[in-house]
Amino acid sequence: MKAIYPGTFDPVTHGHMEIIRRAALIFPKLIVAVAEDTTKKTLFSLNERADMLRNEVSCCPKVAKRVQVMHFAGLLVDFVAANGPAVVLRGLRAAADFEYEFQMAYMNNKIDSAVETLFMPANEASHFISSRFVKEMARLDGDVTQFVSENVAMKLRSKLLCQ
Ligand code: ADP
Repeated sequence: MKAIYPGTFDPVTHGHMEIIRRAALIFPKLIVAVAEDTTKKTLFSLNERADMLRNEVSCCPKVAKRVQVMHFAGLLVDFVAANGPAVVLRGLRAAADFEYEFQMAYMNNKIDSAVETLFMPANEASHFISSRFVKEMARLDGDVTQFVSENVAMKLRSKLLCQ
């Protein structure tokens, strides 16, 4: 079965890419679904977030073969119904992620019982990386190249300069 990995990806980090690489070894097809309707106020537009992801994925041909970057508006369960059958994949970092992720998985399954969520634990090296902190660090002119690719770091610099 294929998997759908939804998120805001504002912007994509090494943590997201680590999940994508591992998932691409397991699932024959992985749809990375960039959310348009998010409660988070995003720094990057929907197209910018999706383009950065496509760029990261294209750097690894083995992964690129199995991964498709799409975007969706509205409910995730509707996107899954339209593009499934598929399981929803989410990355889990520290315990802090758990409550929110658990609730979301439960709600989605309540709306559509065909929607199952699988969690993949973050690895040791990237479990502390979050898009939010990367943006905060970049705003304060910190070096974020440990956490995101050169391309994303460059996009962050030019976006923040324009603000
Ligand atoms: P959302 O706004 O939907 O939480 P994010 O872009 O913040 O979107 O995250 C998308 C998914 O990636 C979530 O499941 C999140 O827990 C996971 N994730 C984010 N950062 C990491 C990381 N460093 N390691 C593993 N998973 C991560």
